[in-house]
Amino acid sequence: MAGRRGLVMGVANDHSIAYGAARALAAQGAQLAFTYQGEALGKRVKPLAAGLGSSFVLPCDVEDLASLDAVFSAVKELWGGLDFLIHCIAFSDKAELKGRYADTSRANFQRTMLVSAFSFTEAAARAAPLMPAGGAMLTLTFGGSSRVMPNYNVMGVAKAALEASVRYLAADFGPQGVRVNAISAGPVRTLAGAGIADARFMFNFQKAHAPLRRTVDIDDVGGAALYLLSDLSSGVTGEIHYVDAGYNIISMPHPDDMRG
Ligand code: NAD
Repeated sequence: MAGRRGLVMGVANDHSIAYGAARALAAQGAQLAFTYQGEALGKRVKPLAAGLGSSFVLPCDVEDLASLDAVFSAVKELWGGLDFLIHCIAFSDKAELKGRYADTSRANFQRTMLVSAFSFTEAAARAAPLMPAGGAMLTLTFGGSSRVMPNYNVMGVAKAALEASVRYLAADFGPQGVRVNAISAGPVRTLAGAGIADARFMFNFQKAHAPLRRTVDIDDVGGAALYLLSDLSSGVTGEIHYVDAGYNIISMPHPDDMRG
């Protein structure tokens, strides 16, 4: 990845999936820029970026379109172009990441969709003009998009929209050589992951029943991110790539596992 420049959106701390992806790309020589949401997180993100050789760190709250525009203006000014984009951003009101999906409020539905799904489209639309000779974009999704996961609720609906966006964006930008993919990660213990009710139960259930009998960590996701953002995956676009220890292929636990 030497000579490639990428923008990483969504590092909150060193447990963040975005950080795992950034670390894998930096290890292969990529030059990185980072965004952070709010000054409190900025204090954590700046030293992490420095550790990966970057001082290009910018504030960005995707609910504030001006801050998103400012990020891409800064990238254009400093670098003149961009080779890849990593989007690892999601939010929903914790009070609605439990109980029934049917009880989702209109306000939280709109906010969840904007931050967790549409922000990728808005970032991609701003990144693509900076990739005239081709590039790659990546977002992070979860299997709750297509199958019901208890308590994931409106976030699952937003992830379904995000995954559909990946396919439409792949079609939009494919003719200019820009590939757009998503990683569907298994549960990882992060700030965002902790917002889902009974997250520990889901984590342990997947660990017990995934074919690999484990969950994944940010280095597992980082390796797949490196593949999807490098020329190793030059023929791949519009793909939802599972990095979940195989959990998505299981329809029910093996009876032997349930008998204890
Ligand atoms: P995380 O809490 O480390 O990262 C979430 C990031 O979203 C944070 O950096 C936060 O600042 C950012 N964010 C939220 N609202 C924002 C806004 N308005 N503007 C800008 N940034 C905003 O958690 P994570 O688990 O690393 O999450 C990264 C992505 O991975 C998310 O899309 C999440 O849904 C997805 N994902 C997580 C898991 C998991 O189990 N942790 C599994 C599959 C997919």
